[in-house]
Amino acid sequence: MSPYRLAAVIGHPIGHSKSPILHRHWLRQHGIKGDYTALDIAPSDLKTALPLLPKLGFSGVNVTIPHKTAVLDLADEITPTAARIGAANTLTFQNGQIHADNTDAYGFLTNLRTQAPNWTADRPAFVIGAGGAARAVIDGLIEAGVPEIRLTNRTTSKADILAADFPRTVVNADPSDCGLIVNTTSLGMTGHPPLPFDSFDPSTTVADLVYSPLETPLLRDAKAHGCVTVDGLGMLLHQAVPAFHRWFGVRPTVTDTLKQEVLA
Ligand code: NAP
Repeated sequence: MSPYRLAAVIGHPIGHSKSPILHRHWLRQHGIKGDYTALDIAPSDLKTALPLLPKLGFSGVNVTIPHKTAVLDLADEITPTAARIGAANTLTFQNGQIHADNTDAYGFLTNLRTQAPNWTADRPAFVIGAGGAARAVIDGLIEAGVPEIRLTNRTTSKADILAADFPRTVVNADPSDCGLIVNTTSLGMTGHPPLPFDSFDPSTTVADLVYSPLETPLLRDAKAHGCVTVDGLGMLLHQAVPAFHRWFGVRPTVTDTLKQEVLA
């Protein structure tokens, strides 16, 4: 194998991605010769471009919008997690094959356990949103052993479809008695309206997948009501750990220094 290792994030558009900042931080930290870049690949080019990447020396790629589902059709091997979520965010090129995985559920759960160490999976969870990110969050919560997942979404039909795909998941807009509330919508993101939510109980942990701003209106209000809060940046950082490990051979750690560098 070449001593110079390459990886990338593929998407369209891709200019906003924070992934090069965090992977380059770890490459520098561990003195690894290589680079991690961002590749803008249009949907119509994906089928042609993806098989070329291993030939150009890439060890693997992260996958973001709009390719997360489409890459499954191009993969030789799909992990059970990626199959359940119906999307991949991490591809590894090995022995001429494309291996597809999804590390978002791992990233969500690891971040939750890091920022809310006293959270336990013994009460229902309330998940707002039914897009791709919600699927990863629900998969992680089921893995953690949460007894019931209550799902609510602007478009109820999408919540119905998602609930049918996962065990212990029901469409229910009642957050009472839930030990965890998770916003998986884009509401609260800079330039978007805040999430309309005010049923806070201090015993509830409140997590937001949005990380720009780091403290969303939801998290600010939850904190004011005495809830433990979990920001979305940690999920982004933790989902990258298994990918970096696979491609560059070192398992990196998520530190405050890294968080500050990604936020800057
Ligand atoms: P997606 O598949 O497009 O789903 C978007 C979700 O947001 C849908 O449930 C949608 O509801 C809802 N939504 C959008 N605008 C809304 C509005 N005005 N009112 C109510 N609901 C609205 O997107 P995604 O991939 O799941 O990502 C969702 C969010 O999570 C994004 O902000 C993304 O940046 C963030 N995210 C963060 C991480 C992380 O590592 N922290 C990872 C993945 C995603 P409808 O079904 O009704 O349209």
